[in-house]
Amino acid sequence: MVRYVYDFSEGGREQSGLLGGKGANLAEMARMGLPVPPGFTVTTEACRVFLETGAPPPELDDEIAEHLERLERASGRRLGQVDDPLLLSVRSGARFSMPGMMETILDIGLNDYAVMGLAKVPERERFAWDSYRRLVQMFGTTVMGVDGALFEGVLRRIERQHHAADDAHLDAVDLIRTVETFKDLVRERTGEDFPQDPHEQLRRAVLAVFGSWNAERARLYRRREHIPDDLGTAVNIQTMVFGNLGSDSGSGVAFTRDPATGRPGVYGDYLPNAQGEDVVSGTRDAVPLEDLRRLDPESYEELCGHLRRLEEHYRDLCDIEFTIERGRLWMLQTRVGKRTAQAAFGIAGQLVDEGLISLDEALARVGGEGLARLMFPRFDTSGAGEPLARGVPASPGAAVGAAVFDSAEAVRRAAAGERVVLVRPETTPDDLPGMVAAQAVLTSRGGKTSHAAVVARGMGRVCVCGADALSVDVQGRRFTVGDVTVAEGETLSVDGSEGLVFPGAVPLVDSVVMRYFENGGRRPGPDDEQVVRDVHRLMERADALRRLEVRANADTPEDAERARRFGARGIGLCRTEHMFLGERRRYVEAMILAGGAEEREAALAELLPLQRADFTGILAAMDGLPVTIRLLDPPLHEFLPDHTELAVRVARAEASGRAPDPRDGELLAAVERMREQNPMLGLRGVRLGLVVPGLVAMQVRAVAEAVVERVRAGGDPRAQIMVPLVGAVTELHLVREEVERVLARVSEETGVRVECPVGTMIELPRAALTAGRIARDADFFSFGTNDLTQTTWGFSRDDVEAEFFPAYLERGVFDVSPFETLDREGVGRLVELAVSEGREVRPELEVGVCGEHGGDPESVRFFHSVDLDYVSCSPFRVPVARLEAGRATLSGAEATDTR
Ligand code: ADP
Ligand code: MG
Ligand code: MG
Repeated sequence: MVRYVYDFSEGGREQSGLLGGKGANLAEMARMGLPVPPGFTVTTEACRVFLETGAPPPELDDEIAEHLERLERASGRRLGQVDDPLLLSVRSGARFSMPGMMETILDIGLNDYAVMGLAKVPERERFAWDSYRRLVQMFGTTVMGVDGALFEGVLRRIERQHHAADDAHLDAVDLIRTVETFKDLVRERTGEDFPQDPHEQLRRAVLAVFGSWNAERARLYRRREHIPDDLGTAVNIQTMVFGNLGSDSGSGVAFTRDPATGRPGVYGDYLPNAQGEDVVSGTRDAVPLEDLRRLDPESYEELCGHLRRLEEHYRDLCDIEFTIERGRLWMLQTRVGKRTAQAAFGIAGQLVDEGLISLDEALARVGGEGLARLMFPRFDTSGAGEPLARGVPASPGAAVGAAVFDSAEAVRRAAAGERVVLVRPETTPDDLPGMVAAQAVLTSRGGKTSHAAVVARGMGRVCVCGADALSVDVQGRRFTVGDVTVAEGETLSVDGSEGLVFPGAVPLVDSVVMRYFENGGRRPGPDDEQVVRDVHRLMERADALRRLEVRANADTPEDAERARRFGARGIGLCRTEHMFLGERRRYVEAMILAGGAEEREAALAELLPLQRADFTGILAAMDGLPVTIRLLDPPLHEFLPDHTELAVRVARAEASGRAPDPRDGELLAAVERMREQNPMLGLRGVRLGLVVPGLVAMQVRAVAEAVVERVRAGGDPRAQIMVPLVGAVTELHLVREEVERVLARVSEETGVRVECPVGTMIELPRAALTAGRIARDADFFSFGTNDLTQTTWGFSRDDVEAEFFPAYLERGVFDVSPFETLDREGVGRLVELAVSEGREVRPELEVGVCGEHGGDPESVRFFHSVDLDYVSCSPFRVPVARLEAGRATLSGAEATDTR
């Protein structure tokens, strides 16, 4: 038979699915013999029945009654009895902690008679009426749906009439009046009296807690934390203890060590003469827990003992809530506490040293996102005041610079040595030079995977995007937030970890972890900071465990060198398009406008030595390691001037009676000819290579000649040639023939044998579905998961992110953007299929991934599970990928629920 209610003495921490985190941990503390006010838990299963059917299970009432009776017998007090009644708290508690998101109702059991019983002892009179006041207020809002502001309004009015600073200064008589007014308010608003029957109070409070699972803020919190919507909450019904019985009472919160830094010791706050809610609500100033040692040394000692036991028992940082009633300590809650990234690494390390956990368990308890946070400089915001605006924390870190409003200005100022923050409504590929030049990028539109965010993360630039309070006036070179205006040149501080923007320069604290990686991740000495030693130890362990190799996406020798220092074993994606920009654009234009083969070849010949130099530098930086060079991918017209700009120039000339520059005319015609409705699905990738004669040959020749140069210089170049956007094996076959022809020719010309593996990106569903055929002509596969996600879902990232992603996230179509974390169900299946069918044909096929997902923790774990050879990500994400690749090998035994 299904049971829906468990006494605290019947459960334990392993039952958090059934009893919720709070209930399971209360039971665990009871099991350990810690002083927990007695009570019982209604299971999440009962809540799920309620959520599915709109009514609790029929047996629930009886089960609650039975457990209540037991509680009453044990305490010798009954619910609702006039003399010294039993009072209860009714507390929500889901599997994953959702602090403050759902309801708790205290002092259930009071009514017009019981309150008198409680107030019989004179020094308890005020306390009794205060408790009743709280009950009517909490029950009135939570259960009966009266607007909470109305209660607050009444309270403020009565305080004013009695010249009281706050409710703590109201006396018993004031409180009696408050209760009466509250009850009138309830009747007036609901047409119903505040229920006097304690059993009815209890029943309705339980249902209200069930219902609060679907409160707006609870849903929002779940979405942010990726907590499933169908878990439901448990309800804990517990004997009340009172911290508001005078100066020998109080309540507080405590941590077994510092959750900000991980330092061992006892940390927390204590508020004398208060109920639990008061400490966290901040209405009165709490004192440091240290002070309790003086106020109540016995309770303090006892508390410290419990904290030590809890930490040893849970083998992790715990946070707790406690109450002292007349010198008697009660434990009200514990859980494995949330912590900062630094503390996560620190605590894991300490617990290993203390022999409480193994190194693998420590590795399971840290994560890539935390590591990324540790790598960026941080602000010391203690004196910064209120932020100017908030947005999406898109790329972590802290940056200070002068506000600029276009890419050119950013480049100009940066070249003059100034630090700048590029502020735009949103960014486009044209802003790239400005983004490179800026310390931070700030946009008023777009989400975590907007152009600005993706590019900034890739480059390790700080980015806050979607700060929608900002109204950006690019022409006027300023932005406004409310009535504050920030003009070009004014200093801003951008906190990409928190998504905050401050006026002026907030002081920075350097990241020692970044310095550690920049120095090649050498073993730290005793003088190095603790956090570096903690990180090093876990990185070492991850590297020893992982099966996945980590490469980097890098297009320049500098990036390649950094990637190498960060631990990359090769380049998984070297894009060549930026090599066609800037000065070189005119050769690309010439190639496009070429009247015949001769002109085109002349243009390509100009590009050849430049490309060769690019590749030589990169191959040198990655000497001895694979460098996967992707042939040109984007449509050629992206390298031509903007259509509108050209059209305006031509029209202006014509209007003023001059003949337009003939080159402008030609370019305009070309742009118009090449214009595409859907460039993403147009003439790009391998298609370009098959349609534009000489392009592939030039690029391959540049690679081959670079290889020769490196060999002659005594190096060990390992270039691989990657063909983008293949959908049919024949496309690859044709390009491959050309590649091999060129390689053979260069070998012949130079006398150096050049052999490069040739492979393809899998970034179209058709490529994945026909991977078995494609593998016949491919030495390697590299999943281009950005495009593969776009083409699988049939949406273009730049268009959808602003348009409907927010609604899709809101309405639960996905709980995380598929551009951020790989969509296992869809894109993931294509990956799995392509891997298995590709390897069937060619067992030695090398398989990797080079999309953004290669640096995303959750996606890395997936790539491990489908047995890829490597992931490739931006240099700054390489340590993250290494760490996650190591964590992916751990079994569930070490893994802990960190939510
Ligand atoms: P949350 O999940 O938001 O932390 P809780 O269920 O912990 O909510 O309840 C809020 C506050 O009510 C707590 O700070 C706790 O101290 C207080 N409280 C809950 N149950 C009791 C009780 N049985 N006796 C005294 N105070 C209680
Ligand atoms: Mg709590
Ligand atoms: Mg692609």
